Amino acid sequence: PDAEEIPTGSLREEYEHLVDEVRRHRTAYYQNDAPEISDAEYDALYRRLEDLEAMHPEIVANDSPTQEVGGEVSEAFAPVTHLARMYSLEDVFSVEELRTWYQRTAASIENIAPGTTPQWLAEVKIDGLAVNLLYREGRLVRAATRGDGTTGEDVTHNVMTIGDIPQQLSGSGWPEEMEVRGEVYISTADFRAFNEQRVEAGLAPFANPRNSAAGSLRQKDPAETAKRPLKMFVHGIGAHTGLDAQSQHATYELLASWGLPVSPYTSLLTALEGTATKPGILEYIEQYGQQRHGLVHEIDGIVVKVDSFALQRALGHTSRVPRWAAAYKYPPEEVHTKLLSIEVNV
Ligand code: NAD
Repeated sequence: PDAEEIPTGSLREEYEHLVDEVRRHRTAYYQNDAPEISDAEYDALYRRLEDLEAMHPEIVANDSPTQEVGGEVSEAFAPVTHLARMYSLEDVFSVEELRTWYQRTAASIENIAPGTTPQWLAEVKIDGLAVNLLYREGRLVRAATRGDGTTGEDVTHNVMTIGDIPQQLSGSGWPEEMEVRGEVYISTADFRAFNEQRVEAGLAPFANPRNSAAGSLRQKDPAETAKRPLKMFVHGIGAHTGLDAQSQHATYELLASWGLPVSPYTSLLTALEGTATKPGILEYIEQYGQQRHGLVHEIDGIVVKVDSFALQRALGHTSRVPRWAAAYKYPPEEVHTKLLSIEVNV
């Protein structure tokens, strides 16, 4: 039905109900590390909110969840202001949506730098918890969760217990100051073994690796975090002084040379569609879709990024996401019906 056919009262009610639902599920997920619905159900709710706002821009609240980065900051931790803001990612849920994003981004790049053939990085989307590491002169001085993107939670002591994360960078030529962003996760194998131990000890097993990684990192007692099999892969940088790198992939090489854990699954590609000899982004998606459960950790999709930092800067950000990256989400493997109870009638 057309927008005009919906009585304003019921539209507003539906809208406020959806906003409340999204907020409630965000609190369960980010604050309590205990979601009540699956990610696919949450994504569907969120998409419905975005669609409703697109059809009725006049109802969009300034503090709508679509205008903010999702996390919250618990009072159990000291707040940390990130030097550079942390963002979320624009989600696409089909190859068609990815194609639209790709064509739009390629067209913007053509406007910014006519004649350039941009390179694209395809990465797996690690299903973990975003963490921001601050290094000064090669030394880890602070670590924080993403929180609302501006302010995160101070988890420095907990992060210091993670073996993958160097407290002192190796090699040489480190920048004076650098924020390194990445995902803390529990590997599939460690998760299985850890749960078996819990069951043997008469404890309830954890539901999934993502939430136990988040719960494990956000322990009040670092000694408790130290008992959990946490690992990390880095996938970006924030503020930096004295870092000489022109692209995302060159930065990964530098970070790896300093002993930081960089994902082995990343590919540098030149197009959405491959040729007989060169795979493209779509082939990458297909390949990792098939091996989805055979990687070291769980993934919830693929991230595509424009590689050049100059182009990233020129493309910029919205209040919530960079315009130079997108997250393709694989179709959900289980289907739930809970959403039916809050169908929005538009
Ligand atoms: P997002 O999952 O769309 O993506 C942003 C995050 O992806 C980044 O912050 C980053 O930490 C992470 N990431 C992983 N691998 C990456 C890589 N290679 N490169 C760059 N970033 C990478 O957005 P979000 O704001 O973190 O939250 C939404 C996610 O949380 C969705 O998957 C959603 O389903 C889930 N969620 C679920 C519930 C629930 O109730 N089940 C509630 C809230 C959110």
